[in-house]
Amino acid sequence: MENPRAKYGSAQQRKGRGRGVVLFPLPLQGHINPMLQLANILYSKGFSITIIHTHFNSPNSSNYPSFTFYSIPDGLSESEASTADVIELVTLLNVNCVTPFRDCLAKLLSVPLEEPIACIITDTVWHFTQAVADSFNLPRIVLRTSNVASFLGFACFPFLREMGYLPIQESQLEAAVPNLPPLKVKDIPLIDTRNQEDLYGLISSMVKEIKGSSGLIWNSVEELEQSELITVGQDFAIPVYPIGPFHSYFPASSSSLLTQDQSCLSWLNTQAPKSVLYVSFGSIATLSDTEFTEIAWGLASSNQPFLLVVRPGLVRGSEWLETLPNGFLEMMNGRGHIVKWAPQQEVLAHAATGGFWTHNGWNSTLESICEGVPMICWPCFGDQKVNARYVSHVWKIGVHLENRLERGAIDKAIRKVMVETEGEEMRDRIVHLKEKVHLSLRQGGSSHQALESLISYISSF
Ligand code: UDP
Repeated sequence: MENPRAKYGSAQQRKGRGRGVVLFPLPLQGHINPMLQLANILYSKGFSITIIHTHFNSPNSSNYPSFTFYSIPDGLSESEASTADVIELVTLLNVNCVTPFRDCLAKLLSVPLEEPIACIITDTVWHFTQAVADSFNLPRIVLRTSNVASFLGFACFPFLREMGYLPIQESQLEAAVPNLPPLKVKDIPLIDTRNQEDLYGLISSMVKEIKGSSGLIWNSVEELEQSELITVGQDFAIPVYPIGPFHSYFPASSSSLLTQDQSCLSWLNTQAPKSVLYVSFGSIATLSDTEFTEIAWGLASSNQPFLLVVRPGLVRGSEWLETLPNGFLEMMNGRGHIVKWAPQQEVLAHAATGGFWTHNGWNSTLESICEGVPMICWPCFGDQKVNARYVSHVWKIGVHLENRLERGAIDKAIRKVMVETEGEEMRDRIVHLKEKVHLSLRQGGSSHQALESLISYISSF
């Protein structure tokens, strides 16, 4: 491993204590939350914090009075900013932001700071930032906001293409993926995009520039992904820091782009312990109106109380609840509550919440583990498919809805998790996992130690 001091000069050569850090989040909810939580963690360890962010999806700076924020133009037109094609969006951002980001950093570095910048920390998806950091002779550490297992899935794309697993053939869906147990071909973390080559290009640039970076931070925990972390350590000759789960230090509420409807907490207060199924599919996934109708009827026939998040835009072609069957909520007679966006961490921590039907975004998965809430997994794309496989088949803390969404299968899965013995066993396992994760954060625990190493590493620049 290269000594970062050899590349960038010692702390003395770089003058001052080198205790300022510049962070650059990718402007998507599931990426903004962990980056701002990381900023809070580093601030609590004595670093001064500067956040560079795009105009698009900019975080609310007034929630962070101790940080300095710089907004850069991202060059997105209105239609580009509202696209549902995430790969197209981040590919474009990686081009549009090069000059504004470089200019912003140049300005920051041109004035003598009381606490000189030790390094930049960017999302791994911002691959262009490695070249910018190198041009300023500044170390770049990267944050991977999803877990290690799904990252290994992405990093395997060239191999999987060479072996003929990509593009995926219908006949191979159930086949095991070589080198990536327990994944099946249908779990390969593909993301639909207009041009699949954009996805392969993005991943390959991301992997290449991670290899050129000075270190890799994970919002994950050694106890969850020990063998995957060993593989990463072997394949990437840079220091790795699994210091998660970040939300255990600081909640995600302050970086929420949508207003969290607190009414669901008072509704939860009226429900019996562990009786409510919380249903949310995160900030990006979308549903067809047929899927939404099946979800509604599945919830209705399960007879369990439910808290359903319907983000505006969740149902393709609808503003909000237009496609809900007529008189649905009245028919539920108080058994269901629907909001546009929930204070998710508080919901999961609430005594009335007994299960989480999730799309298995990594933040949601980790938040559920940390509150000991068993899951129903319905992954939509990318890393969610890998997370769902780990939840159902490795940690065995959830039921995987693997086929087309259909009310009968939904009803069955809800009963399994909420009332049957299998659900009880899952609950026992997830509570055990929750304890392990909490222990990792204590003095001497794996995440605690990794964080201490990260702090001294950054301080050494
Ligand atoms: N979230 C929230 N309210 C909601 C749904 C989600 O605050 O109603 C938060 C959730 O706690 C998590 C983030 O949004 O921190 C979603 O991230 P995740 O990685 O789970 O999914 P993504 O949105 O990236 O698909």
